[in-house]
Amino acid sequence: AKRQGRNHYQFYTADISERFHVSVTIRNELQHVLEQNALQLFYQPIFSAKDHTIVGVEALLRWQREDGSYVSPAEFIPLAEDSGQIIPIGSWVLQQACSDGVRLQEYGDFQVAVNLSSIQVHRANFIESLKHTLNLTGFKSSKLNLELTESILMEDSHQAIRILDALRVQGFSVSIDDFGTGFSSLSYLKSLPIDTLKIDRSFIQDVISGKHDAAIARGIIAMASQLDLNVVAEGVETAEQVAFVEEAGCHYMQGFYFARPMPFSELICFIQNYKAK
Ligand code: C2E
Ligand code: CA
Ligand code: CA
Ligand code: CA
Repeated sequence: AKRQGRNHYQFYTADISERFHVSVTIRNELQHVLEQNALQLFYQPIFSAKDHTIVGVEALLRWQREDGSYVSPAEFIPLAEDSGQIIPIGSWVLQQACSDGVRLQEYGDFQVAVNLSSIQVHRANFIESLKHTLNLTGFKSSKLNLELTESILMEDSHQAIRILDALRVQGFSVSIDDFGTGFSSLSYLKSLPIDTLKIDRSFIQDVISGKHDAAIARGIIAMASQLDLNVVAEGVETAEQVAFVEEAGCHYMQGFYFARPMPFSELICFIQNYKAK
């Protein structure tokens, strides 16, 4: 048993050092992504639960390496946050999403949602740079939805409230992303100027098989509706899940059941050919 334990330990350290190596490589490559035009935005449509029409899209960052492989944002965004590169990358995302958003308006009245990192939001000139991006691109603040995670709110809630108030004054809408995965989610909802909750995919996944997840999802939807918030169910993959979240009173849905994230040109084709089912 001792020997086995030791082998496990060796395996464990090898794994850690390999992971470390991978992240150092990514970190180095990451420094050049902007110069190399290696970043791209994909867009995933968001659907009304009422009639399954498309109400908006979420911009999702993609990094394609020279060899054609993709690095997941879940992997490189935390590294970009550590190194500070999330600032120029985040500015690029906003600018790209807004200029695509302007073109998207030719095809319908769609909201564009952009994910923001807490580091971006807590920068002193965040609101100014946001306004600058809108001026530059001509996109309207009322069409831009900013997705923030609960962690942003927990770090400094007074500061968070100030920022959210300022965003609202400027006409932006704000969503809380991955709702339910953070801490003390419930207490701040009544005091924060937010518009939408996005229920994390982890709760949607098991609504059919798992009694508890079903109860949590139903509870979040009911509570949010009482608080006059919109609710988006994330990661809807099956017809059963669609039926469940609709029955529970969810307003919007997003997930592979309807559409995967896709490049902007494909999104335009998708929108033009889409028939609500
Ligand atoms: P997120 O904001 O929660 O985005 C939803 C993620 O779920 C996306 O992963 C999307 O591709 C995936 N997804 C959507 N529908 C389904 C489904 O039905 N099934 C499954 N299995 N997955 C689904 P993605 O694109 O890999 O992004 C991962 C995370 O990276 C995002 O999670 C977000 O936190 C972060 N991220 C992406 N783009 C940006 C960005 O521009 N800025 C920042 N700060 N973070 C970003
Ligand atoms: Ca999101
Ligand atoms: Ca999410
Ligand atoms: Ca997530």
